Amino acid sequence: MRRILYTGNLIPDSGSQCIKMSLPVTLSQGLYSYLKALSFTRHSILPTLAASGIPFRLQVGFLTLLLMASTPALAQNEGRWKAGFENGFGARAAAIPGGIAIVDVGPTRLPTPEVSFGKKKVLVQKNAGRWIAVVGIPLSTKPGTYTLDIFSTVARQSTFRVNAKNYPEQRLTIKNKRKVNPNPDDIKRIAGESKRMAKAKSTWSENFQAGPFIVPSNGVVSSPFGLRRVYNNQPRRPHAGLDIAAPEGTPIRAASNGIVIEAGDFFFNGKSVFLDHGNGLLSLYSHMSKILVDVGQAVESGELIGEVGQTGRVTGPHLHWSVGLNGTWVDPSLLLPPETTVQPLPAAE
Ligand SMILES: [Zn+2]
Repeated sequence: MRRILYTGNLIPDSGSQCIKMSLPVTLSQGLYSYLKALSFTRHSILPTLAASGIPFRLQVGFLTLLLMASTPALAQNEGRWKAGFENGFGARAAAIPGGIAIVDVGPTRLPTPEVSFGKKKVLVQKNAGRWIAVVGIPLSTKPGTYTLDIFSTVARQSTFRVNAKNYPEQRLTIKNKRKVNPNPDDIKRIAGESKRMAKAKSTWSENFQAGPFIVPSNGVVSSPFGLRRVYNNQPRRPHAGLDIAAPEGTPIRAASNGIVIEAGDFFFNGKSVFLDHGNGLLSLYSHMSKILVDVGQAVESGELIGEVGQTGRVTGPHLHWSVGLNGTWVDPSLLLPPETTVQPLPAAE
């Protein structure tokens, strides 16, 4: 089994490119995870399709089309920015809710500017003699013009636009009803866990150590980022990560170098690990069957941190992968080099 590594250059893509995820597994493994993913999809997202008696090939075609239609966020990438920074880390611009704004904040002959967005410190990287702010845009952001506060030798401001983005709706049926309507004891537990997660999510450390990001697990994308979620007919928070469906026990690897800053079993997220890559860049891995690292541990890109499972609020085994910037979750695929291929669902044979 091979893992996906960034191989190409990180200089900007054409702007029209969608990220496709390919199945980095052997044929038999691919077929297995494909069938698992298909049954996962059937039972959770499209129960009526499974029961419809529609021929298998047509179902596959339909699901592929559905997933392609549900990833326009990627197609909308502005992607014009030369996204490669030092250490091979890169990010692509998508000035939409849940996306990333890439803002030039001055020449590198001036000291590193301190940049903040809504009072949260923002990641600043170097590119071609310029300081570049890499700004996470919260999913709840309304379209409009927003301001960055910049302090270098003097205080100043810069603005950027956030465009509208209508993410598709996803309706899911959760068998464990408590995971949708928690009881009073659960609510107490959730309150404590939310604080822990919020603290982890707002972590800022000075040592930026991310290189290029890799896809953390082999599998197929069962839910892209940003879907408006309805569980058992009740609207809940939108999907703030990217789901990769894979058989239980599939290895989960660190998407980049970092430090484990939080790990535990959470009510909704199940067994989860938070990695801090520095300067407000974080990643979260959820619903694990096993956590294989400890808080405080340093991990390198590609290092094993856990195994795929179905702990927490799930419809089947998968990795939920989130990426945080300046205290907000953004679309993880924007951190992957344009050449990375991760496939929604393999084409029908
Ligand atoms: Zn998820």
